[in-house]
Amino acid sequence: MDGLPGRATLALEILVKGPVVTEQRIKRIAEFIRPFRVPPGTKVTLEDDYDPAFKAGVEGKQDGKQLLTEGIELLAEYQARLAAQDTHGVLVVLQALDAAGKDGTIRHVMSGVNPQGVRVERFKVPSAVDLSHDFLRRYQQRLPSRGEIGIFNRSHYEDVLVVRVHPETLARERLPEHAVDGHFWKRRFREINDWERYLSDNGFRVVKLFLNLSREEQRTRFLRRIDLPDHHWKLSPHDAEERRYWDDYQTAFSQMLSHTSTEFAPWYVIPADRKWFARISAGAVIANTLIELDPQYPVVGPDAARALQTTKRQLEAEAPDGAAADPFQERLAAGDRGKV
Ligand code: AMP
Ligand code: MG
Repeated sequence: MDGLPGRATLALEILVKGPVVTEQRIKRIAEFIRPFRVPPGTKVTLEDDYDPAFKAGVEGKQDGKQLLTEGIELLAEYQARLAAQDTHGVLVVLQALDAAGKDGTIRHVMSGVNPQGVRVERFKVPSAVDLSHDFLRRYQQRLPSRGEIGIFNRSHYEDVLVVRVHPETLARERLPEHAVDGHFWKRRFREINDWERYLSDNGFRVVKLFLNLSREEQRTRFLRRIDLPDHHWKLSPHDAEERRYWDDYQTAFSQMLSHTSTEFAPWYVIPADRKWFARISAGAVIANTLIELDPQYPVVGPDAARALQTTKRQLEAEAPDGAAADPFQERLAAGDRGKV
């Protein structure tokens, strides 16, 4: 069956196990994520423009669960096609303040996909070796390959966020004096945009998610981490210290969104005060990216197709007495594709 063109294979899948990818689902996803997209070229003020508690008319967790399940199914289907086509890669960038739910979002959203096709990379404080190179190098080294979905849990955007909020971290980058002038941040935004354009031109789609948490919800989540002993490991004194820079981070995030949401690599601001809603939304954005790429199962050429038929005849001739020539054909006729 894998020799069939993508659409035909898909049509068969729908026939056999019910629709995974339907026009209606595709449209619903595109509409659902529209309010989250930061229009390229617009100036964003996080506080005024995006509500961390927004839930887009989805009433509660139960409705949400259904949407998440659908999203996960879609992701699994498209990820299989992305890997089979082996032409495009997808880079999902996740940024947020502490306790906004980056880890949980990755765990839930990716729960249905084949782990072989996904690479999760987490970025901490740069090492001495990292600091001996240009700032983009360590991110460049951990990009997804063609056919893969890469997730950056924190990313090159830390270099216009934490580094901007704490100028002493910039000093550690040992840039030449002339590089750190009044246009420094603008230039850094441009360098990031240039890099992402380069990736996009070369077949790697970049999609960026900012999990937008409110100050009060962060306070509650920090307290939860203190009140539950098995969560103690999740909260460091450093997290509480960073919280004191809340306003500086909001400004840095707003600037980042305003300067680096582009047609080829847009930002999506995901309302993160409700974990379930953040997960559905993140899943929907990633699914939408894959839908736009529309990867297809490869179609083998006529020679390879003929070779498959020759092999088929040889295998059929090997059938032991009493066995069907092609036992699988019977199962397929009964609607069983033999997929677990
Ligand atoms: P976590 O993800 O909570 O384990 O924390 C990782 C820490 O590394 C955070 O405090 C980040 O701000 C910090 N970090 C990540 N990337 C950079 C960077 N490029 N420069 C400085 N600090 C960074
Ligand atoms: Mg942390």
